[in-house]
Amino acid sequence: MAPRKLAAGNWKMNGTLAALAELDALARDHGEAGVDVLICPPATLIHAMSSRAGQGIAVGGQDCHAKDSGAHTGDISAPQLRDAGASHVIVGHSERRTDHAETDGEVAAKAIAAHKAGLVSVICVGETEAERDGGQTLDVIARQLAGSVPDCATAANTVIAYEPVWAIGTGRTPTGDQIAEVHAAMRDALVRRFGDGADFALLYGGSVKPSNAAEIFAIPHVDGALVGGASLKASDFGPIVAAL
Ligand code: PEP
Repeated sequence: MAPRKLAAGNWKMNGTLAALAELDALARDHGEAGVDVLICPPATLIHAMSSRAGQGIAVGGQDCHAKDSGAHTGDISAPQLRDAGASHVIVGHSERRTDHAETDGEVAAKAIAAHKAGLVSVICVGETEAERDGGQTLDVIARQLAGSVPDCATAANTVIAYEPVWAIGTGRTPTGDQIAEVHAAMRDALVRRFGDGADFALLYGGSVKPSNAAEIFAIPHVDGALVGGASLKASDFGPIVAAL
């Protein structure tokens, strides 16, 4: 079965209640788009967003703790995200890996916690510019996939996002051939590990915008996008959803 198409927006540390108007605009124009649409707002907005039921848009967290509860000031657990109405959670975003020194093992533990709570994990991998320049891209992706994707991952509970660190928020994107090479390698690695039926949706992320979305979505094994800056406005994200 072909993976489902997914357009996912990561609002990062942006947005207050006023930004719900963008969600309404997106739902009005693209809620029945025929592809899955996910918005991962800051945690403060998850409940308000998910309460606007029937909009055809899923809501996710941007990170979760590996434990279900406890003395972890400032953290949010997967069951808490689920309780607030989230269906997905991003784990292993490069900003978490860099800002919070998260390891592959910690990312895998978070994904396991997400699955236990009934959430779909969106597991991010991606090379730095130095790693690409050093010819290490495929090795880095293979290592991150092996370490960050837990054995309990299935196509139903896990989405993989390839996000080259140097393309995030920079306006730079890899060439089509570079994206194709990494996505084909990811597909091969996942089939080798999980078997032929493991049709994980593979997203590309990094400076996706309305002007390059269609070209990126035409690349083999690209099943959608994880979008940062261009997901904040329905007028930008809507055309990206439509291009899928
Ligand atoms: C991201 O941070 O996941 C991302 C892809 O950001 P941007 O689209 O802004 O490059």
